Amino acid sequence: MTRSRLDALICEQEHLETLTRKEIETVQLFKLNRLLLREKKRAGFYRNLPEHLNRLSDLASLPFTTEADLSRNAPSLLLTSQRDISRILSDATSGTTGLPKRVFYTDGDLENTVQLYMAGLGELIFPGNTVMICFPFSGPNGLGELIAEAVTRLGAKSLKLGTSCTYGELNSVLGAEQPEVYVGMPVPFLGLLRTCGRKSLRRALVSGDACPETVTRSCEELLGTKLFPHYGSREMGMAGAITCPAHSGMHLRENHIIAEIVSPDGKPLPIGETGELVITTIGMEALPLIRYRTGDYTRILPGSCPCGSETLRLDRIWRESPSLSMPSLDEVVFSLQEVVDYRAEKNGESILLTVLTTKTADAHLVASAVEAAFPDLQVTVSAKKVSPQDTTLYRGKRILLPS
Ligand SMILES: [Zn+2]
Repeated sequence: MTRSRLDALICEQEHLETLTRKEIETVQLFKLNRLLLREKKRAGFYRNLPEHLNRLSDLASLPFTTEADLSRNAPSLLLTSQRDISRILSDATSGTTGLPKRVFYTDGDLENTVQLYMAGLGELIFPGNTVMICFPFSGPNGLGELIAEAVTRLGAKSLKLGTSCTYGELNSVLGAEQPEVYVGMPVPFLGLLRTCGRKSLRRALVSGDACPETVTRSCEELLGTKLFPHYGSREMGMAGAITCPAHSGMHLRENHIIAEIVSPDGKPLPIGETGELVITTIGMEALPLIRYRTGDYTRILPGSCPCGSETLRLDRIWRESPSLSMPSLDEVVFSLQEVVDYRAEKNGESILLTVLTTKTADAHLVASAVEAAFPDLQVTVSAKKVSPQDTTLYRGKRILLPS
């Protein structure tokens, strides 16, 4: 089996001949110490940390960086001058401070992102392929634009569809352009497959939102092949971990990210145990973070990948939720094969689901399934048969909306 393309990329970027655990960890410790020294010299946000660690394992003794730290201190976290910034991503979703969370990127950061996309997409996109990109296109250096750049460099053609096409438009594109590959979020992909069928599509990379097991399994059954999940967050340059041909977890780009898994009280957990993912982004030029708590939960898969790569692999990722969550609801609702998409609005213990279905809408069927799984919920379902004028019901991450 061919090794993950990530190995070749890391070797090229770090000027290495081979990539063993020892070599990966040597690169990580070198870059971590370079970062700590810079922070000490410039008296930056991390100025109180030691300027040198003897072992990589000493990282676990440093304090965490939280989402609130990032919201409050982005300018002092910035390791480069403002004039070197090529892209700023800002959102208002920081629940802890109410302040927008801003992440900055240099040209170098964006180039590294494109190169990782080329490694991940290169597993399923071949020269001459046509690729439908169903991520937002938001201007220069936006997510869709960076993916399209990687697709072009791989010698394939991009269809820049974004996230607001109707099912009728998607169906027309499938007929006219015959794309072999889909790149986009998982639930909209399932909706596409259930509405239009797979047509010319043969392979898909999914990212950008939780990918519940039911959604993964249903997509793979309809597509006839396994999906290539990708994991990335803004803090890691929208590019973190990619799937190789072995489909055995997601290989982490370890020359840019040191990953730890910690328990709820912040204790490091051994490989194989599930906990919160903590990242140290040693490769980010503009805004490197040390021990950033991502709020994402996963585990590091034990052993080496069948592809031969020794880079760490992340298992499925989810966000912990104290109560009912969208992925848990997805597991139930998308197990009904006629569901194309749905939106959920919650008010206390009442929930309203607006559902699109392939057949004549059966609201009772959906309500029964949800009530059986969540007996404490009062469920109201409004269902309608999908039409060519409908679009996916969420343009970004799927969340429970307040009603
Ligand atoms: Zn592999």
